[in-house]
Amino acid sequence: MSGDARNPTLASTRSLIVPNDDCESAVHRGALSWITSANGVRSDFPLANLPFCVFALPSDSGKRKIGVGIGRFVLDLGAVAEAGLLGELASDVSAGCRAQELNRLFGMGRETVRELRSALTMLLAQDSPLRERERDSVEKLLYAQKDVVFELPFVVGDYTDFLTSLNHATNVGRLYRPDNPVLPNFSSLPVAYHGRASSLIPSGVDFIRPQGQYRQGHGGAVTFGPTCKLDLEVEIGLFIGRGNALGTTIPIEEADAHVAGLCLLNDWSARDIQAWESQPLGPFLGKSFATSVGSWVVTLDALEPYRTAPAARQSEADPLLPYLHDALDQSVGAFEIHLDTWLLTGAMREAGAEPTLISSAEFSRDCYWTFAQMIAHHTVNGCNLRCGDLLGSGTISGPYAGSEGSLLELTKGGSAPLTVGHGESRTFLQDGDEITITAYCARADDPAVPRIGFGECRARVVEAATASSHSNVN
Ligand code: MN
Repeated sequence: MSGDARNPTLASTRSLIVPNDDCESAVHRGALSWITSANGVRSDFPLANLPFCVFALPSDSGKRKIGVGIGRFVLDLGAVAEAGLLGELASDVSAGCRAQELNRLFGMGRETVRELRSALTMLLAQDSPLRERERDSVEKLLYAQKDVVFELPFVVGDYTDFLTSLNHATNVGRLYRPDNPVLPNFSSLPVAYHGRASSLIPSGVDFIRPQGQYRQGHGGAVTFGPTCKLDLEVEIGLFIGRGNALGTTIPIEEADAHVAGLCLLNDWSARDIQAWESQPLGPFLGKSFATSVGSWVVTLDALEPYRTAPAARQSEADPLLPYLHDALDQSVGAFEIHLDTWLLTGAMREAGAEPTLISSAEFSRDCYWTFAQMIAHHTVNGCNLRCGDLLGSGTISGPYAGSEGSLLELTKGGSAPLTVGHGESRTFLQDGDEITITAYCARADDPAVPRIGFGECRARVVEAATASSHSNVN
């Protein structure tokens, strides 16, 4: 679907918006917090967001804590609960707040998390009835986000990655099947493959360029070595809150009740390995070496003001089967999320240059299937989803040049290199390259609804032979 038209949302002169930086200069018009950095118009974390994360303090021997994002801080939720600052919490909710991952808390269901967010809103609101002494207590439990180490928010048992962008399916299909780019099942069901949960990595952690076997060129020799076609995939992830029992289904109209929240996701892909191995089955070693997960879980309650209709179905598509159709889902089943992807090469880093914006996409415009449809489809055969399971949207690609969510598409299979930084070019990723995905929701039509953001999902490619494991990129 990529035409010659330039992506109107892409402007390479823009600079990467560091979350919460420069956010106190202008105040948004939503509910305000006494933590002033939450009130800036460009803050990712206003009072209306309150996303969840898991973090550790470098000084605390890696002990994981549950946190909530507010302004440029993360609030230690376990310590807040323990100090009795959230009122009378049920003992299991308090234990959920003090856990080292989000599974226990979100396994209690959306209503519990909703009540917890309400209590946090009361605590952090500018007009909070907190006494000065209590406010001092809360302040002591705030940590600057730049000073903490973010971990995976959930223990993930299973990870499923979908294919929901028609533009992506068309762009990639065209490279291999020019006459028949989109396979006929695309509009009947959300296609997916089973991803690898063990190699999910938190944002900020390097990953090693994978090795594998692939064919050199069209019909060339089969060889083994580091991938020559390392790529990214810009995606939105969804964590399951309450699961379903084996043998039962989650009807589409009940899907939202099973959602913990959304996050950023980068499904790293080795295109040469993937192309050679995926015949006739789906991706395996070309994907399973690493998938980066954003630090923040944004709840559906926070995303409610940004609901919108999903992308229009193709006029020639068969009608949706009943289990994938819900009138409400068809009208407001998608979310208006703007995604930006940035590349910083090793040479740019050394020169102190800003990252180059390589792609901008719109989640609602560019995804054909909603998460409710993905959940209904995933469970329609009786497959059980469990708390903490991760679903990926698939690569989010728009209809314009510059809105594609992978280098495979942005460079037309490697034949049209991108210019980045000061005259460097890229087809696929080189060692030392760092990709950062950022995303936010904003309502231009209603300035009283504050912008909310997803923070970032960032990782750097490390050379195959000299990689270190689990080192933080800073
Ligand atoms: Mn993917």
